[in-house]
Amino acid sequence: PLSLPGGLDAPAPHRVADRYAAVERPHPGHFENTPDSDPSVAAVREWGAGIHARVASSTLGERGVQQARLTSTDQLTTVLDRVRTAGGTWAGWSGAARGAVLHAVGDALEANRAALVEVMAAEAGKTIDQADPEVSEAIDFAHFYGELAAQLDEVDGATYTPAALTLVTPPWNFPVAIPAGSTLAALAAGSAVVLKPAPPAERCGAVLASVIETALDAHGAPADLLAFVQVAEDELGKELITAPQVDRVILTGAYETAELFRSFRPDLPLLAETSGKNAIIVTPSADLDLAVKDVVASAFGHAGQKCSAASLVVLVGSVARSRRFRSQLLDAVSSLTVGYPSDPTTQMGPVIEPAAGKLLEGLTTLGAGEQWAVTPKRLDDTGRLWSPGVRGGVRRGSAFHRTEYFGPILGIMTASTLDEAIDIVNEVDYGLTSGLHSLDPAEIGTWLDRIQAGNLYVNRGITGAIVRRQPFGGWKKSAVGAGTKAGGLNYLLGLGSWSTAPAQT
Ligand code: GLU
Repeated sequence: PLSLPGGLDAPAPHRVADRYAAVERPHPGHFENTPDSDPSVAAVREWGAGIHARVASSTLGERGVQQARLTSTDQLTTVLDRVRTAGGTWAGWSGAARGAVLHAVGDALEANRAALVEVMAAEAGKTIDQADPEVSEAIDFAHFYGELAAQLDEVDGATYTPAALTLVTPPWNFPVAIPAGSTLAALAAGSAVVLKPAPPAERCGAVLASVIETALDAHGAPADLLAFVQVAEDELGKELITAPQVDRVILTGAYETAELFRSFRPDLPLLAETSGKNAIIVTPSADLDLAVKDVVASAFGHAGQKCSAASLVVLVGSVARSRRFRSQLLDAVSSLTVGYPSDPTTQMGPVIEPAAGKLLEGLTTLGAGEQWAVTPKRLDDTGRLWSPGVRGGVRRGSAFHRTEYFGPILGIMTASTLDEAIDIVNEVDYGLTSGLHSLDPAEIGTWLDRIQAGNLYVNRGITGAIVRRQPFGGWKKSAVGAGTKAGGLNYLLGLGSWSTAPAQT
């Protein structure tokens, strides 16, 4: 019978030491200039300086990108029909056999770690310390779903029919881990996959798809089991989402995008992880040094462009009244080194596109009663590089309290009691991640009982859910459709349908 593997004594996912060693690893054909023998900062800096040029001329990315552009309904139909046929063949494989292929995909991702880090840094602006663990997460997904695929063979008393074709539409903010996780879940379930990358991260998608495809081919998986396609987000994009050949759509993106998909087709079989407006509450019992570190990492990691990011910190009681937490926080934020990932001293990178619309407003406009504690500044002509911002005086019910800005801005709110802080957090429409810094078991208990969010973290940062330990997904407007958590067993089960076995006679 199925049971969720793991728990606290599960084997640790990739060791942190492995992640950082990876920066020095050579990759044939893409990484010629990597200082594989000299790990000094100077050498790493030189390597970093070459990242942009090398990705721009990367034959792998270029070929993948050009070949994948679909421009007509006929092309779309041809691809979908082929992939669906491959799905039929793949579903006939045992779960154990599919699982073995997924483990091989995990090994291929590891072998291509450097190329994946490189393309994320160059195209998506991810700093090395963010991009490298993202590859580890993709590898963890491969092995985790590989194990679950094998377990599908053990199910008693029910017949499982995988979706023949799953469409994966990932976001640009985790351009390797999320498309990898979604694709590998569907493959584990026995489904074929069409992967359409987010436009700002198409090269990342192309490199990833190429690594997965090569491993699938090498292990005898049916041809066309995975198709990487680029489709403009216009009529043709709508045709892709609503095509009758598509049995499941996995979306990670804004809540509005999920609604748009559903407006195209109300009964769309959608599994969507959507927006967040996440907060960390800090109570007087907290270890304040730890809280500062975790708030800064959660708010400004990848320039705040994570669904899981902390966008609010709610200070309770004496933490709100005293200057200590605030001044430590503001010092820490002001001392972040902002730049491009090609400089290894960069702690916070650029935003994905020139700040515009809601994000630009968040970076430049204060609401009633608010004041900048750290003023965000535009640092170059690209419009992409901003220093981090912290605003104080955020009022309950204000725009900043409730809106997801998806950038490097944090708001400070205050509450007299923990209960009031929880009310403030629960008042937003989303419920993805939530954090508490407290060393008081009674407070932790109250918070766990009352807080409305899918992923809860006590005394740690609120980003970086770990595969197998923390399946990822939210409540309220943070999930649409089946909304089961990525990285969990239910996710896999949602990618097929179950019939109960005939009654025993
Ligand atoms: N899984 C990621 C985390 O735990 C967030 C994914 C997202 O931003 O969509 O930080």
